[in-house]
Amino acid sequence: MRVINLIVIHCSATREDKTFTERDVDAAHRARGFRCAGYHFYIRKDGAIKSMRPLQEEGAHALGYNAHSIGICYEGGLDRNGKPADTRTPEQKHSMRVLVLTLLKDFPACRVTGHRDLSPDRNGDGVVDSSEWVKFCPCFEVKELLIKSS
Ligand SMILES: [Zn+2]
Repeated sequence: MRVINLIVIHCSATREDKTFTERDVDAAHRARGFRCAGYHFYIRKDGAIKSMRPLQEEGAHALGYNAHSIGICYEGGLDRNGKPADTRTPEQKHSMRVLVLTLLKDFPACRVTGHRDLSPDRNGDGVVDSSEWVKFCPCFEVKELLIKSS
C-alpha cells in the first residue's frame, strides 16, 4: 500500500439541477486521457457512495498531491445559474462525513482538505484565503466537515 496522508474533497462542478453520474465522471476523465475516473470515491446527490478507483492506486485529481492522497468528489458544486455554491444535499453531507471518518480510521495521519485549499499561498502568510484560490472546488469549507454537529 502506498503512503496516504491527505484526503482531498472535490465537486464535479456540475449544476445542482443536472444529473452527472459516476459513468459520466468516468467518461469525462477518460476523454482527458486518464485510465479511468481520477477520484477514488464519488458521492451522488442521493448520498450513494461510488467506488471509482482502488485506494492502493494513485488518483488523478490534485496536481502535485496525487501520490499520497485520496480523492473524494461529490455530484454538484454549481447552482442553477452555474455559479459555484455548496449544493450538497443532506444525504451527501451525511455520506461524506461517514466516508471521511471511516477513512480516517484506516489512515489516522491524514489531513482533510478541499481542492481550493491546495492553491498556492501567494502572500506567504501560511493561510490560503479566498483571494488566493485558483479554483472554487469544492465550494464549501472542508474544515467544518469534521466538526460534530449537535
Ligand atoms: Zn477539484
